[in-house]
Amino acid sequence: MWRDLVVCERVQQSPDTVAYGLARPDGTALPKALPGQYISVQVRLADGARQIRQYSLTRAPRQEQWGITVKAVPAGTIAGVGIPAGELSNSLHQNVFEGDYLSCSLPYGDLILHDRPDPLLLVSAGIGCTPIIGMLHYLARTNSDRDITVLHADQSPGRHAHRRELSDLVEQTPSARLIHWYEDLGVRSSTGTVRRGLIDLDDIPIDPRVRAYLCGPPVFMDVVRQHLVNRHVPQAHVSYEVFGPDTWTPTAPAA
Ligand SMILES: Cc1cc2nc3c(=O)[nH]c(=O)nc-3n(C[C@H](O)[C@H](O)[C@H](O)COP(=O)(O)OP(=O)(O)OC[C@H]3O[C@@H](n4cnc5c(N)ncnc54)[C@H](O)[C@@H]3O)c2cc1C
Repeated sequence: MWRDLVVCERVQQSPDTVAYGLARPDGTALPKALPGQYISVQVRLADGARQIRQYSLTRAPRQEQWGITVKAVPAGTIAGVGIPAGELSNSLHQNVFEGDYLSCSLPYGDLILHDRPDPLLLVSAGIGCTPIIGMLHYLARTNSDRDITVLHADQSPGRHAHRRELSDLVEQTPSARLIHWYEDLGVRSSTGTVRRGLIDLDDIPIDPRVRAYLCGPPVFMDVVRQHLVNRHVPQAHVSYEVFGPDTWTPTAPAA
């Protein structure tokens, strides 16, 4: 199940995110991955313990190279109590560079983009962009003519990992459109496609047949999911990924 892949690329995507390109050391094809899937990465930490974490594939289904992007989880406080910095994400940022090896699993995951003609809504926030980037690579490569709306929310343009790649992929997919929301837009003015503030779907056309894929913090996904359900999108058409233990219980839609 585990295989050592070589880090062939390391790109600082934003102050707290690093993208890694991973390949087989002998250059042969990697196992097939479906758009939206993730791999597990196993790392021996400084205390000798082996830890495993999951990272969504940003380049699926390319078979010559996989891509993952890791956000370094900072130390902080919750309700006044200090919590430590994330172990594995910070270890990767500090210790893993081009030419190093990473022990990786096969691709897994149920958040899979199925080939259907229905309109598509891809919604992400922060590091939740990763499976969506993987899906958009697939849609661009297959010249998809699905009606695609891509919505992304982030702190600021400078902290938005894969910002340029997201815009480029949407441009390569003629039937796709993109709107960003940034909490901090700096001195820039809000436009129709780059907006200031938190995500707001009120003026976004939503076809009730849409297939929606969500990835971001649970609070964000709650807001988006509730909005979709209120606009008559069946709950079964809304798929999501939680970047942590899947204890998310979506709140019931407003009556
Ligand atoms: C399917 C899936 C896909 C994912 N894809 C991505 C991706 O593409 N990119 C990405 O960056 N991440 C992704 N993740 C998240 C990733 O797997 C890791 O959870 C993340 O990198 C944090 O791991 P860590 O070891 O750095 O943090 P950990 O050390 O596991 O810590 C996690 C959190 O727990 C807190 N914590 C730790 N110890 C304590 C304690 N004693 N008391 C209180 N709080 C504590 C930490 O402060 C931190 O906030 C994904 C997760 C899943 C399940």
